Amino acid sequence: MTKNSKILQDLHGRNHNYLRISLTERCNLRCTYCMPATGIPLSPKSHIMSFDEIYTIAKTFVKHGVTKIRLTGGEPLARKDAHIILEKLASLPVELAITTNAVTIEKHIDTLKTCGIKHINVSLDSLNAEKFKKITRRNYFEKVYSNILLLIDNGFNVKVNVVLIKDFNDDEIVDFIHLTKTLPINIQFIEFMPFDGNKWDLRKMVSYKTIMETVYKGFLNNDVNRLVDAPNDTSKNYKIKGYKGSFAIISSVTNPFCDSCNRLRLTANGQLKNCLFSSAESDLLTTLREGKSIEPIIKKATHAKFKVRGGMDTLEKLQEPKLHSKNRSMITIGG
Ligand code: SAM
Ligand code: SF4
Repeated sequence: MTKNSKILQDLHGRNHNYLRISLTERCNLRCTYCMPATGIPLSPKSHIMSFDEIYTIAKTFVKHGVTKIRLTGGEPLARKDAHIILEKLASLPVELAITTNAVTIEKHIDTLKTCGIKHINVSLDSLNAEKFKKITRRNYFEKVYSNILLLIDNGFNVKVNVVLIKDFNDDEIVDFIHLTKTLPINIQFIEFMPFDGNKWDLRKMVSYKTIMETVYKGFLNNDVNRLVDAPNDTSKNYKIKGYKGSFAIISSVTNPFCDSCNRLRLTANGQLKNCLFSSAESDLLTTLREGKSIEPIIKKATHAKFKVRGGMDTLEKLQEPKLHSKNRSMITIGG
């Protein structure tokens, strides 16, 4: 098959050239919105893709048109062989990126540079150390904050992911934007999304509309400039006049961007998910281990992709626990 065989095109005309690969289900943080307090049952080690298997599967996707790969998790850098995976994937003709909590990223700066990684997304949900501890159930605020500065000093393009939760960190929206006055970062405010075991409640979600109302209260209206979003961008981008950085909103709940979706997801145990919100999974790893072609499974999974949010096309459906709780916890999907 060739790039023109369109196994990565779905029935709604969307081409998928972006693959997000979760390297592990494990994490050194315990974010409340990502995983249940009791933890999650981990897949046996033998069910997790080896670095060679990750490379082989990624190569198949690249053969069919994937041009961007983002590594995620769990915490991708918690995997001992993360540097080998990065080096192997860097040999493919793709833009390689990573989403990380940055707790240990200082140990990986040289590898990230050698592998040509330019874009790094770091999760940081509060600028207050106590609140950080509360949401992540771990005490690493100083480490993460100083590592963000280290990444900037080393020339990486840094986006900071902030999941907003009502009455917890929504009072920090303006403070986060103030960071962009002197730092060349992009703050991405993310609407809180429902997954299995994360105690989601629509009332805890801070919507795009509310975020912008807060922004307009905190800054002069004329200083808030809407930027042009990149093609397939999931975020709506803004900048405060004269500031070095920018900010954005990812509104998967109130304003889904499914029409231009170009993403597929591979979980650490080798399951292909055609949508973040879909509970359906297609087992690529078992087929690969049986020595068979994974291409027919990729094609079938891509063709089966729903038009909107894994079939939960209305807010009412998204709020239905029977529907959204069939999906894995975010930590085992890879955001
Ligand atoms: N451990 C890495 C990190 O935290 O950046 C990578 C994995 S994490 C699952 C990827 C992204 O998903 C993070 O930015 C996290 O904030 C986001 N995320 C997790 N659960 C979420 C939820 N319920 N709603 C919105 N975003 C969520
Ligand atoms: Fe770990 Fe990232 Fe999930 Fe937090 S959001 S628990 S850092 S995987």
